[in-house]
Amino acid sequence: MRLYNLQEAYDMTEYGQKRYNDMKPDDHWIQGEDADRCTLCGECLDKCPQKSDISFLLKKAHNFLSKKI
Ligand code: SF4
Repeated sequence: MRLYNLQEAYDMTEYGQKRYNDMKPDDHWIQGEDADRCTLCGECLDKCPQKSDISFLLKKAHNFLSKKI
């Protein structure tokens, strides 16, 4: 979500796509999991103080950031 937010707020598309595609769960430099790991369980919906649809945003982030540059 951080990479997606950087793209949305600062138009850092190339940076976000490069970092997202380099990201690995056990990497020391760019650690993280792909946004498509969301199972759509819905547990986060009631917990988000901003009432954001996190699963929708994760799907959108993955579809956008997973594009190879
Ligand atoms: S992001 Fe939300 S909907 Fe997706 S797996 Fe996590 S808690 Fe469930």
